[in-house]
Amino acid sequence: MTSTPIKKAVDTARDDGPSFDASFFSTDSNDDSNDVTFDENVFMKNTYMSDDEEEIEEMDGDLHSSIVNENKLIVFESNLMEIINALTCSECNCPVDPSDTDKEYIGTMIKITAYCTGGHLVRKWTSQPLTGKMPAGNLLVSAATLFSGQTFTHISQFSQFMNLKFIGKTTYQTIQREVLMPVVSHAWNMMQEHIFTKIKSQNRYLRLAGDGRCDSPGFNAKYCTYSLMDLDTQQIVAFVTVQVTETGSSSKMEVEGFKRCMDFLLERGFEIKVLATDRHVQIRSVMSKQYPQTEHQFDVWHLANSIRKKTLGKIEVAGDRGAWAVD
Ligand SMILES: [Zn+2]
Repeated sequence: MTSTPIKKAVDTARDDGPSFDASFFSTDSNDDSNDVTFDENVFMKNTYMSDDEEEIEEMDGDLHSSIVNENKLIVFESNLMEIINALTCSECNCPVDPSDTDKEYIGTMIKITAYCTGGHLVRKWTSQPLTGKMPAGNLLVSAATLFSGQTFTHISQFSQFMNLKFIGKTTYQTIQREVLMPVVSHAWNMMQEHIFTKIKSQNRYLRLAGDGRCDSPGFNAKYCTYSLMDLDTQQIVAFVTVQVTETGSSSKMEVEGFKRCMDFLLERGFEIKVLATDRHVQIRSVMSKQYPQTEHQFDVWHLANSIRKKTLGKIEVAGDRGAWAVD
């Protein structure tokens, strides 16, 4: 395998950590399915003041456009309850009974139902708007975690250290799978189409550089991504992920990904004049057999790196590394 392995620096955070006693954290319960879908249209209506349907619909539109940009705060529960407890009942004017207040946590959101000392419902309140049936904060922390390149475990630990209410792992995985990844995929497809349209309008052939990247080095890799970059614009024009089960062996993933990228571009009618890769043996073979119309070059970085390693190896054997090893 010559492909560059992905850095594993965050791996310690990815495991749930044998070095920590799980009970140390007041962790999320396993049953956090509620965090994804909090379904209470009636509740919404009560909460957001209006009986007027039109007003609610209009608010939904505004809600969706503003939830990302709106300021969010870290609010302490005791400070929040100061406000709730200061409310009075509209029916009997009695104050809120703090001992008769229901609190429910739905991931990052709190839902409070307050009753007066006379037992009337004073207020139902949620700390966040909903996007569909989901607390907006649950969706946003999931998106922020993924898009900032973090792992759930890392961010979840961060929240546990300060007892910040957070979503559970199941919720995160569900949101990632059902909302975030489709959005990423959609954005990538749109971007790719945009790039293709531009290249077509320029009526030019492609000069590409390609390389694969596996989730671990050696022969244990499970996933491999392959990317082809347009050298004229430095933009990625093709990208695939190959899973080991598709090829039967880790060592075949890179070349499989490479072929899929090439075929995809050729099927779209592009002419690939030049391709630069590392000196991957299988890709060299496939290039000469299946894509003879494309000139295959080796990229300078991989070539120089390989020469450097081999040279240093020889020098080391000769016991004179110090004099030559300049990085
Ligand atoms: Zn009352």
